[in-house]
Amino acid sequence: MATLQASGLTLAYDKVTIVDELSLDIPAGQVSIVVGANGCGKSTLLRALSRLLKPAGGQVLLDGADIHSKPAKEVAKTLGLLPQSPTAPDGITSRELISRGRYPHQGLFKRFSAEDEAAVNRAMELTGTAGLADRPVDELSGGQRQRVWIAMALAQETDLLLLDEPTTFLDVAHQLEVLDVVSELNRTRGITVVIVLHDLNLAARYADYLVALKDGKIYAAGHPTEVVTEKTVKAVFGMPSRVIPDPVAGTPLVLPIGRQRVLRTESVLAANGIFRGDAPVNEPRALAEGLEQDSAVIEEEAQAATRAVAEADPNLARPAREHLQTLAFQTTVLRSQQLSPSFRRLTVGGADLEDFGTNSHPLDMRIKLLLPPEAGFGPNSEIASLRPDALTSPAEQLGWYQRWLAIDPAQRGYMRTYTVRAFREAGHRDNLGTTPELDIDFVLHGKVVDGRLQGGPATEFGDRAQPGDPLLLLGPNKALTDDSYGGIEFRPGAASRIVLAGDETAAPAICAILESLPANVTGHALIEVPETTDILGTTTRSGISVQWLTRGTAEHGSLLRDAVRGAVAIPGAGVVQTTADPEDINVDEDILWETGQAQSAPFYAWIAGEAGTVKELRRYLVRDAGIDRKQVAFMGYWRRGKQEN
Ligand SMILES: Cc1cc2nc3c(=O)[nH]c(=O)nc-3n(C[C@H](O)[C@H](O)[C@H](O)COP(=O)(O)OP(=O)(O)OC[C@H]3O[C@@H](n4cnc5c(N)ncnc54)[C@H](O)[C@@H]3O)c2cc1C
Repeated sequence: MATLQASGLTLAYDKVTIVDELSLDIPAGQVSIVVGANGCGKSTLLRALSRLLKPAGGQVLLDGADIHSKPAKEVAKTLGLLPQSPTAPDGITSRELISRGRYPHQGLFKRFSAEDEAAVNRAMELTGTAGLADRPVDELSGGQRQRVWIAMALAQETDLLLLDEPTTFLDVAHQLEVLDVVSELNRTRGITVVIVLHDLNLAARYADYLVALKDGKIYAAGHPTEVVTEKTVKAVFGMPSRVIPDPVAGTPLVLPIGRQRVLRTESVLAANGIFRGDAPVNEPRALAEGLEQDSAVIEEEAQAATRAVAEADPNLARPAREHLQTLAFQTTVLRSQQLSPSFRRLTVGGADLEDFGTNSHPLDMRIKLLLPPEAGFGPNSEIASLRPDALTSPAEQLGWYQRWLAIDPAQRGYMRTYTVRAFREAGHRDNLGTTPELDIDFVLHGKVVDGRLQGGPATEFGDRAQPGDPLLLLGPNKALTDDSYGGIEFRPGAASRIVLAGDETAAPAICAILESLPANVTGHALIEVPETTDILGTTTRSGISVQWLTRGTAEHGSLLRDAVRGAVAIPGAGVVQTTADPEDINVDEDILWETGQAQSAPFYAWIAGEAGTVKELRRYLVRDAGIDRKQVAFMGYWRRGKQEN
């Protein structure tokens, strides 16, 4: 039976030590569960145990030998890892995904053998996923999907199975379903299991060996009845509690005492911005007009999240990832690819991105790029304090954006809004690196002077960036956001007929949205780009017809306006027949940003691009075609002659 040990292990990102000289013997044939507060280093430890992270000191020993002395493929025959929130390629079926677990057993030219087939069938039987074999993974429930991922790790047929938070974002029934499958595998097949789990009570129920981590060191380890004590819970989670025997399992059950605060009604919490309700369309958050307000929304959300903590102790410094919804991610340019004359794709990656995302498809997720000023100063302290590991208090964060804005641009640099064209976790089939990576598609606008493109700061960065260059960006904190994240505007509700329309700056968002749409959606995607050679490949399973409009010498937006009129006749589909004249917006002063949560209507439109064009389309769709404004998102992505900030 394979053995796994950590010996004097030190793990660090940049110069920040996360795990400090830790030694651990994983008991063979048992279920070990690692628990600890957010940021204590438990996922980092698991990554090192699975060979994904190279230690700064010490060793991980697999069968007595340094795991890094063995080739990855050999390790993969002994040890299977299920990372946190893995993403499956769009449209892949359960059987196809599970079959990928066989890769370590296949030679360069070896085909899928009868032995591979048998291993896949065994894994499906053990996890109860045979009935899901032909179903697309992205159509399964959270619990089913997680069982399919476990089956993939099992098909690898390893002695050791490592699972990073396999129950995150599942409801309680599905959490139990997943842990039951894993513990049954351990009992029936003798597989050694190591799990990182955030739920202490479930950990106490399922673990044979429980490891409580605190600040990167083992605080206590042993049988749950030895480890789960009121003293350990207080020390490790900073939480007073009572520990009683679990009446169902007999294992220790932790009852948090909390701070004995008076219960308040949801409306009071909502008024304080702690809960985000379903804001009606004309409330400030939904009407985040313009890019400045868009940035204000980021700050407002960050503040909303911090306020809850601030009430308890506003001055308590904690890692930013524990209380800020929006974090600053330090990344490095990995690749630069010219997609067409007008589009350049930068792929950036880095360990910070492990905290990035909303645990859902990015859709039209926006991020903010922090571009250095001409003189190239580093990020200022306002932004540095938003890094995931930065120790900061909620009080310190209030008003950070206004303070940042007040700094001279020559010192602070520039902030620009871009779309996440694609995000790939480490372990994704198209990500060969050890950290997550994301693609940003830059439109290269401006003029070429003396052989150099002169546009705005973002365009010049996109044009010139080389692999190895740093890029700082602001985006969602995976631990504190979900698919209701304010940086995603594509909210079609139950609509089955959709129009997506935009210029080249909206092409990355439209292409990403198209990849996510299910087969039962029909409609039109209309994308205006400068040249025929700028027509990019798009994939969609939906019935949406994609039309690329090439501008050539025509006026910017004119082809898009005509095409939208062609696609949405008067009266429009899903019409409410308001014939309301939308109030005028001065797109040179304010920025057009009107997004609503679509409801049950069958039609939804998403319109983005140059603000003047979007304004005209808004007038047409709302006044002439009579479409309900709740069913349309109108977004001025940029304004001719106007810089972002
Ligand atoms: C939610 C959202 C998502 C976005 N996603 C993307 C994306 O994925 N890819 C992308 O390329 N852009 C995207 N944009 C648009 C991008 O933010 C703007 O084009 C931005 O102004 C570019 O910054 P810059 O530093 O190059 O130019 P700025 O310094 O802001 O502007 C300099 C000058 O260039 C002009 N200008 C700006 N953009 C263009 C353009 N596209 N064509 C012609 N002239 C222009 C301005 O009017 C100004 O006169 C997005 C915008 C939003 C709000």
